[in-house]
Amino acid sequence: MKHYDKQFINGVWREGSGDKIMENRNPYTEELIYSYRSASTKDVDEAYEAAKVAQLQWGATLPEERRTYLKNLAQVIREMESEIFQLLAEESGGTRAKFGFEYGDSLKVIDDAMGYHMMMDGRIMPSNVPGKDNYVFKIPKGVICVIAPFNFPLLLSLRSVVPAIACGNTVVLKPSTETPGSAFLIAEMFEKAGFPKGVLNVVAGRGSEIGDYIVSHPVPSLISFTGSSEVGKHIGKVAGELLKDVSLELGGNQVMIVLDDADVDQAAKAAIVGAYSHQGQICMALNRVLATPKVYDDFIRAFVKYSKEVKVGDPFDQEVSIGPLINRRQAEKVEERIRETVQAGAKVELEGKIEDSVVHPWILSGVTNDMCAARCEMFAPVCSVIPVKDEEEAICIANDTDYGLSNSIFTKDLYKGLQLAQRLESGMVHVNDQSIHHEPHVMFGGEKSSGVGRFNGHWVVDKFTTEKWISVQRTDRY
Ligand code: NAP
Repeated sequence: MKHYDKQFINGVWREGSGDKIMENRNPYTEELIYSYRSASTKDVDEAYEAAKVAQLQWGATLPEERRTYLKNLAQVIREMESEIFQLLAEESGGTRAKFGFEYGDSLKVIDDAMGYHMMMDGRIMPSNVPGKDNYVFKIPKGVICVIAPFNFPLLLSLRSVVPAIACGNTVVLKPSTETPGSAFLIAEMFEKAGFPKGVLNVVAGRGSEIGDYIVSHPVPSLISFTGSSEVGKHIGKVAGELLKDVSLELGGNQVMIVLDDADVDQAAKAAIVGAYSHQGQICMALNRVLATPKVYDDFIRAFVKYSKEVKVGDPFDQEVSIGPLINRRQAEKVEERIRETVQAGAKVELEGKIEDSVVHPWILSGVTNDMCAARCEMFAPVCSVIPVKDEEEAICIANDTDYGLSNSIFTKDLYKGLQLAQRLESGMVHVNDQSIHHEPHVMFGGEKSSGVGRFNGHWVVDKFTTEKWISVQRTDRY
């Protein structure tokens, strides 16, 4: 993997001027990939200044020109496919299957954004003042700050960066300290695609050190953050004090409700995808299954059976579906939460080995909603099965969480599925499927502690633009 040990500011690759030496480690082997010097607040100032200057010209480019840049970007990404896989597997422990999803959706995000200029339409409105015309323009917000998480570092950076730039904004991107390479790879893609300098700038440094400075800086008018609810709430507070707009895509605690009339085999196969994709490190990952009495035992039997078939290990092995967690600390935290849940009375249906940062699938049954594994976002291949007496109790328990991102319901009665879905307090619900879904043209977002704002399509265009009323007095008024 290429060693990205420089920051990317105003189109120039240069060493950070922070005082910390940062390490990028392979989560599977734990080997050091490379180290680099972190960005300082001075680097952040320079990145924002470059973005501000670049925006004046970038915001004035013709829609067709911006479209051409995006086309070039998609082409560069296609040419770099194997390099991207190598980096994502080495830096974030992503398997080949996870790469397929992340890479494919990244291209789709760009494809959709090519049409965003068509959504930047305004309005001409009548006036009650004689001789006056009212125009409402949709214009870029200016400079947007994007803060990305470690789990889908390519897709979740591009999901904000690309729409922002397509709408005429410029960007300063701060990646997760666990996955800085992915952001610098994006910088390289933008460079190769020929974007003008300053349109995208990347500064890497610890959120706990430069995060508040990045968020409270006077230049960005919107903070587009994807990450944990804890950090998201903090960012909301810092930005709120300054009346700065935010888009917050945060954590989740998904349920799958399996009702008496469900196809249990389908539900169990779906649960494998929902609970184990990217080792459970997905905001929409399945955390809890709520099963009614007739299907409870059959579901657990099928879920355990299919879980035993899942191959775990080296993400470079094509057959492997579960690679390492992002680091050993996460695995230790998961082990502690499982221990606490079992001590509280849960039964272990499937015990997964825990080897350094690698966690094999765990299934716990007889879980109650107040137990640790049910309440926490586990972010690991660990799933709790909770017995419920009927659909009413299922809805009640499903909603008894601070989170509200994506849920699912299995029932053969599609209309009942649709009605129950409306009662689940989450931004997204999938009937007869699992909770992990992303289609770049469809609305995406959460309720409660899972976020503020909506992504994709016209939702993201509305978020990344602002509206301006200009009136013109054609006749003398005074
Ligand atoms: P995280 O710990 O919240 O970190 C996310 C980003 O915030 C990182 O770049 C981090 O930098 C930065 N950060 C930390 N403190 C900051 C501060 N004070 N100011 C500004 N930035 C700060 O989340 P994560 O562990 O990377 O990602 C996992 C979480 O993200 C899970 O909860 C998951 O559910 C959620 N997520 C949500 C979505 C969604 O679409 N809803 C998608 C993916 C992930 P450092 O790495 O340097 O600390």
